[in-house]
Amino acid sequence: MKLLSIEDNAELIESLRYFLDADSKIDNATTGKEGLALAARRQYDAIILDLGLPDVPGLEVCKQLRQTDIKAPILVLSGVRDSATKVTLLEAGADDYLTKPFTIAELRARIFALLRRSNFDTDRENIYLLKVGSLTLDPLSGRVERSGKIIKLRRKEFGILEYLMRNRDKIVTRAMIMDNVWEPNCSSWDGTVNVHIKRLRDQIDRPYRHKLIKTAYGLGYTISDRS
Ligand code: CA
Repeated sequence: MKLLSIEDNAELIESLRYFLDADSKIDNATTGKEGLALAARRQYDAIILDLGLPDVPGLEVCKQLRQTDIKAPILVLSGVRDSATKVTLLEAGADDYLTKPFTIAELRARIFALLRRSNFDTDRENIYLLKVGSLTLDPLSGRVERSGKIIKLRRKEFGILEYLMRNRDKIVTRAMIMDNVWEPNCSSWDGTVNVHIKRLRDQIDRPYRHKLIKTAYGLGYTISDRS
């Protein structure tokens, strides 16, 4: 699961990180501008949005996220308790609202409820379950299957596959993979993506006649059901 938090209270995000399972990942933006930029660049399963940000008001950030067609559920955190604010936020495209003070356990439960809700909503189902040919990946449960057979992947392999599948039929470069799957500002050896792709292919393609991951020579990789 990939979360974006747009929140200037670093302590809160640090404790949330501690409470989420090991496979979840949070990118943290401390200003509205930074949050909008990250949301435009990367794909998230849910967004945690603070109403009181140092630059752009949270309500404005919420509107702009929806205007730019970002569909991830948004959970708003706020110190304001009045119902008019809640209504305005829900109208601006927020999915849920949590008033401070709250416990981390409560925040975590709300996030998971949102994810489940959006997962079961038939209109939005396709956003979450990724499918290329006989291969499916569920970003929420972490389940990967090909032709009904469950495939166990390591964390980075899963991240790369998810990223490829979210961009199916498009070429993604090694730099794009690094940028989306590795920690920000991580300096890693350039061949590391190739090594992970090889392991990924061994798992999802090697046993099958029809190969899904293709090399775009000199450019990067693509996943496609086309032959
Ligand atoms: Ca704040």
